Amino acid sequence: MTVARCGYGGFVRFRRPLITVATAVLAVGALTGVAPPAHAAAFPVNPGPIVEGRPIVGSGQNLPPIAQSTYNVGDHLAREIKAYYGGRSIDRDRAAVALAAGRWVREWTRANCGRAPREVRACRAAVVFDIDETLLNSYSYGIAQVPQFTFDPTTWDRYVADCGYSDIPQVRALYNRLVRQGLRIALVSAGPEANRSAVTRCLRAEGISGWDILVMRGKENADLSVGEFKAEVRQGLQEKGLRIVASVGDQVSDMAGGHLKRGFLLPNTMYYLH
Ligand SMILES: [Mg+2]
Repeated sequence: MTVARCGYGGFVRFRRPLITVATAVLAVGALTGVAPPAHAAAFPVNPGPIVEGRPIVGSGQNLPPIAQSTYNVGDHLAREIKAYYGGRSIDRDRAAVALAAGRWVREWTRANCGRAPREVRACRAAVVFDIDETLLNSYSYGIAQVPQFTFDPTTWDRYVADCGYSDIPQVRALYNRLVRQGLRIALVSAGPEANRSAVTRCLRAEGISGWDILVMRGKENADLSVGEFKAEVRQGLQEKGLRIVASVGDQVSDMAGGHLKRGFLLPNTMYYLH
């Protein structure tokens, strides 16, 4: 294993055990141990002790931690990934998870803060959002790689600099609703600090603005896994008095290690970040 720049999230321990077809066939839904439902729905998923008993709600369309490390799925399942991302299934799954997140946050803030945005603001209720595959869609990056759905830091940095992303309208709608409701918004990305200005520009280009804080990963955190880094960031936010009602991301590592009330796991069948 080497320490290298890896996919969609900065410097992490990285190796490239492109998963086998046999393993990959088991990937979708394997996180939960159950087959995804025929109709889009968000339901409780159980990634194991790593989430410390915090409830996680997802669609079941996520890759499993088969390597205990970050990996990109490669071109073995390109046909299946294209069918999922190119059709309506992923939109329905994203909408279901976003709906569940919105309902949970509204329930919690009404019970603990009040209904008015100024009341929600005053009680320091917060939602943490990941960026890649949560607020911004980089499917077009995976498609353009050779082989497809692999990662290269040079092409990735160029992609971010060019804002090659597309939008994720279901999550943007959730985000903007929470801003209007008075939630404090923290964006937490394991992408390198060097990409901050480009990422900020890309978010604004897709209609996302008004966050309270944007945290990206500096070199001082290079040795942490994504999950460790993000849990530390959430802990720091809590120490500043924020009450993290929900963390919304596309990886278990966006909601592992505590310091949140509930996690909402969006689909990602392209890569796994440890
Ligand atoms: Mg992500």
